[in-house]
Amino acid sequence: MSNFAELKRQMIEYQMVARGLRDKAVLNALSAVPREKFVPSELAEFAYHDAPLPLAAQQTISQPYVAALMISALQLQPDDRVLEVGTGSGYGAAIIAEIAAQVYSVERHKVLADSARQRLLALGYENIQILFGDGTLGWPIQAPFDAIAIAASAPEIPQALLQQLAIGGRLVIPVGNEMHRQSLLRIRRISEDEYQQEDLGGVHFVPLIGASGWEEQRPKRSLKAAIGISAEELIYQSSEHFTSPSEVCLDKLLQRIGDSSVVLLGEPSHGSAEFCEMRARISQELIEKKGFNIVAVEADWPDANYINHYIHSTAPDPRLKNPPFSRFPNWMWANQSMLKFSRWLQDYNATFADNGHSVGFYGLDLYSLNSSIEAVLAYLDSVDPTTAQQARVRYGCLTPWAKDPTLYVQARLTKQYKKYEKDVLAILRDRLKSRLNYAHADGQRYFSTEQNTRLIADAEGYYKTLYYAEQASWSQRDQHMFNTLQSVLSFHGKDSKVIIWGHNSHIGDARATQMSARGEFNIGQLVREQYRGSAYSIGFGTDHGTVAASSEWGGPMEIKQLQSAHIDSYEGLCHNVATDNFLLPLSKPIKPALRKRLLAERLERSVGAIYQPESELQNHYFYSCLPQQFDEYIWFDETRAVEPLSRANGKSLFESFPFVA
Ligand code: SAH
Repeated sequence: MSNFAELKRQMIEYQMVARGLRDKAVLNALSAVPREKFVPSELAEFAYHDAPLPLAAQQTISQPYVAALMISALQLQPDDRVLEVGTGSGYGAAIIAEIAAQVYSVERHKVLADSARQRLLALGYENIQILFGDGTLGWPIQAPFDAIAIAASAPEIPQALLQQLAIGGRLVIPVGNEMHRQSLLRIRRISEDEYQQEDLGGVHFVPLIGASGWEEQRPKRSLKAAIGISAEELIYQSSEHFTSPSEVCLDKLLQRIGDSSVVLLGEPSHGSAEFCEMRARISQELIEKKGFNIVAVEADWPDANYINHYIHSTAPDPRLKNPPFSRFPNWMWANQSMLKFSRWLQDYNATFADNGHSVGFYGLDLYSLNSSIEAVLAYLDSVDPTTAQQARVRYGCLTPWAKDPTLYVQARLTKQYKKYEKDVLAILRDRLKSRLNYAHADGQRYFSTEQNTRLIADAEGYYKTLYYAEQASWSQRDQHMFNTLQSVLSFHGKDSKVIIWGHNSHIGDARATQMSARGEFNIGQLVREQYRGSAYSIGFGTDHGTVAASSEWGGPMEIKQLQSAHIDSYEGLCHNVATDNFLLPLSKPIKPALRKRLLAERLERSVGAIYQPESELQNHYFYSCLPQQFDEYIWFDETRAVEPLSRANGKSLFESFPFVA
């Protein structure tokens, strides 16, 4: 028996049983949880002492007996969903997780929340979620709870917590003066508006600090009083907080989406896993609970067509030579998160296709945009490397707000390029035609020959304007996406409902950004104009982390560090909100005071396939007005790069994306 095991046994015998604590479930839990892993390593030898111990941020891990007493008072059942306020080290959460089904724990110090989350994960606890935030407001999107434990002392019982208690649920809280003895109270909810209260005796806890707790001692309080409630606090109060895409409860979001038949889901970068995972989660719920039957994405038609085959378990045309998603920037779709979503769609279709509920997957983007650009560059490389290099720079700036000065030195390029224009367009036409023929012949009808012809014309027009630096190129591409959307919708019939996945710059309303000043529009604007109240658009944002991106057009994928956002940006504002991830409704229920604050234009960050941190402000920021751009904003403070499907054994990426037989 290890030394700690013996110390733990003694703790249970002398500190618990001898004091009259006989609750079997709690005693078993105490013996299962290694308390030495929850205290600072230099204090591990004192882990089983009959005393509280210091943690970071001047907080403490409760005395073992007090933690046990409180948890015992919750009268937990195995199926219970429990809210804990005051995660601290995570020890209390672990004890509860040994007894109850699911624990939601909130901690107001980020360093404690982060380290407890890591610790509990390392110990293998899968039924605990930890949120960085103000626990006096509870965790509304996860409510109601069968039990609520507040591990810090409050001046009174926070109303929000009482409301989040299920009928029959128990709430245990130390109430009283923060400096002196407090009473441990147990409140039981008897009915919708009846509560019963018992006093379980005197205790001493650290103070509960928050909206319905004690006020933090701030030296500059007078300044705060003078300016009133800050934008960060307003965002905090108006948003729904969550830990991860797999855990978030989306019921309220679905209510806000209501009867909308078009839902647009954005992303601020093409290489971050969380956005893909969250879009997948939302899409799954829209499909299952609201009958959405089309997913249309910012990808090329033929590539997306592979996914459509895969999710219907049909085979693509074997004559197709180029594996899909094998060209720049392939990580945008050929990644683990997307693979997971495609598998889910396949299972869904296999289960529900018989009763007419299958889901279709389509690409909206200008036909084979990326592979065509690549073909054009290869041709220019062979005839004129200088023009090819300039063209590369231009393609590298496929965002409407890139301010790269080289873009303005267009005259030379234009003249040079003119010489090759005919050939370039011929390459483009051939390429499109051959791929369209295959797409048409393989049974996955592309609706009509007329559509094909239009695609070629749109693509030609787009490439031309792009070369001649005309602003209209962005709008042409988005007009094409919108037209494709219309074709898909009419193909599926009038009752169809569509989810669109695209970059924020496509799906947010262009009229709320710098784009509109240059007369440009995008699919987000066109959808709003056409579908009015029945469209709901959701933008996404992040502050820092890692991102998969290239340094130049056609370059290799790199895992880059995403810098913390600019202080004058919406992202900078969201980063200062005292929680990590949230859903912020911007249209329907929004406090006028918050709307007013957010309406003032700020910078917004946009990262595409390319990320250039060295010239970030110049190339990745533009001005926008967030509440006019989106109906809702989803924030992830930290994000990680997508995990691309590997090129194992020199095979194509897509062979590990199991769409090809
Ligand atoms: N249960 C913890 C100990 C809790 S100490 C453990 O087992 O280690 C109380 C904790 O409550 C502290 O970490 C403190 O930061 C936190 N706290 C205080 N006010 C809070 C609030 N409003 N919301 C969330 N956590 C709060």
